[in-house]
Formats: sequence, structure tokens, C-alpha cells
Amino acid sequence: MDLGIAGKRALVCASSKGLGLGCAEALAEAGVHLVMNARGQEALLAEADRLRTTYGVEVTAVAADITTEEGRAKVLEAAGTIDILVNNAGGPPPGMWTDWERDDFIAALDANMLTPIALIKALVPGMMERGWGRVVNITSVSVKSPIAVLGLSNSARAGLTGYVAGTARQVAPHGVIINNLLPGLHATDRMITLDSAVAEQEGITIEEARAQRVSNIPAGRYGTRQEFGATCAFMCSQFAGFMVGQNVLLDGGQVNTTL
Ligand code: NAP
Repeated sequence: MDLGIAGKRALVCASSKGLGLGCAEALAEAGVHLVMNARGQEALLAEADRLRTTYGVEVTAVAADITTEEGRAKVLEAAGTIDILVNNAGGPPPGMWTDWERDDFIAALDANMLTPIALIKALVPGMMERGWGRVVNITSVSVKSPIAVLGLSNSARAGLTGYVAGTARQVAPHGVIINNLLPGLHATDRMITLDSAVAEQEGITIEEARAQRVSNIPAGRYGTRQEFGATCAFMCSQFAGFMVGQNVLLDGGQVNTTL
């Protein structure tokens, strides 16, 4: 399927691995030129090279912490004109509701709420002027169904979701479409960290922790970054122009709701 976005330019934040990389690759496959970002340079440069060679698109790689003001400035300066923004960053650490102090919340809000908002504010005005744009925010299943040990994530992502709900409707008349993509459990490095935390907490092996978690997923497995990226690319496509301010859940059926 031709997504109708070949030649557009996308900034995909936090995209050297995992879900961000899945989104970058699916966009590259659709012919979109990329600005990729991560803090570590090695994996970032290797993946940027791979996507450039495989798909024949332009790829600019910017090593920077996207959750800092300096990092964002560096990325935005290298990015230039951007038609598609995929917001992503590492998730906050797990813990108990009693663990977190003000500074922990500020860090989580900075990374998973205020960073995507800052990038939306920096890039959406240009998209509006040009009459076309797409923004996909990678949030989490925790927006729909709280994950007890991820209270920092539950809180910060709920804040971003509220902001997007109103903003998406303000910019849609100008051809700019903003939606959120909510991952359930996907097989990435982040999942290894979370599986390990469950294993440690419950005194079981990482394989047992994984089997326990997979048993709650009707699809019977974790999702893949390729499936996630393909959904993201559709949400960035010409065909997503009537999808405004939605929260699209990719969780293998884990959240047991009708709507
Ligand atoms: P991952 O496999 O750990 O990959 C994270 C990617 O983001 C890496 O490329 C990493 O590279 C980059 N990154 C992390 N922090 C960054 C920062 N501050 N600035 C720039 N780049 C940064 O994680 P993932 O599983 O893809 O998860 C992505 C997001 O989805 C996270 O927020 C996570 O909480 C959320 N999520 C994931 C799942 C899941 O099942 N995987 C489920 C729900 C929500 P560097 O380390 O080199 O910076």
C-alpha cells in the first residue's frame, strides 16, 4: 500500500532501538526522509546507515538527550523542515507509589509529557503554515489501564493525553493531525528491564516472569517493533487525515474493555 508520504521529512525521537526504530523503519519504507535520534551514538549511527542503505532515503542522525532543552535544540537545528513528528523517549523507572518524591515526578513529566509538548510547539506551527502535518506520540497502555508499578509513567502520560485531546482539535483545521499510539507489551530492551524487575520482585526467573505476563495477552505473545512501526506509519499517512486526537491501543487484546 502506498501511504502517499514519500519525500516527506520525519523526526523520529528515541529511534535507535525498540519502538522508535520500528516507526523510523516503517516510515523509511514508505519513502520518508528521516531525522533519527538517541543518546548513544553507536546504535544510532549503525541503524541510520542500515535504513539509508536499505530504503534509499536521506537519514540524519543526531545523538542527544531529547528530554533536555539543549538536546532538543540540537535535534531541531539539524532537523530543519519537518512534516512528521514521532514523539518518543525512554520510560520512567518502576517502583511503588510511596517511592516517588517531587523530583521524580518532575523528571517523568519532563521526559514523557513536557518534551513531546515542547516538540509539538516547535514543529506544528510550520506544519500548519504548510497545511499538512502528522504527529504521533508514543505513550502507553497505562493511559487506558494503569500499571501499578509504573505510577510515574501513568501520571506523565495521562497529562500528555489531556494536552493532545484539546490541541489535536485546534490544529486539525490546518491539516495537522495529532494522535497517540499506546503500546502494550512489546519485545524490546525496555521489556527485558521490566521483565527483570518483575522477576526480582517476585523471586522468579526472567523466563517465568515473561510467561506470566504473556499469559495475560489474548494474542499469546509480545508485540513486535515491526507491527508497531507499521501502525505508526499508517497514522502518519495521507489516509489518516480524518483520525483526530485518538488513542490507538496495540496490546494484543490485553486490556479487557469493549471500547
Ligand atoms: P527501548 O527498547 O529501551 O528503546 C528506547 C530507545 O529510546 C533507544 O533507542 C534509546 O537509545 C532511546 N532513548 C531513551 N531515552 C532517550 C532520551 N532521553 N533521548 C533520546 N533517546 C532516548 O524502549 P521501547 O520499548 O522502545 O520503549 C519506548 C517507549 O515506549 C518508552 O517510553 C516506553 O516506556 C514505552 N512503552 C514501551 C512498551 C513496551 O512494551 N516496549 C510498553 C509501553 C510503553 P539511547 O539509550 O541510546 O538513548
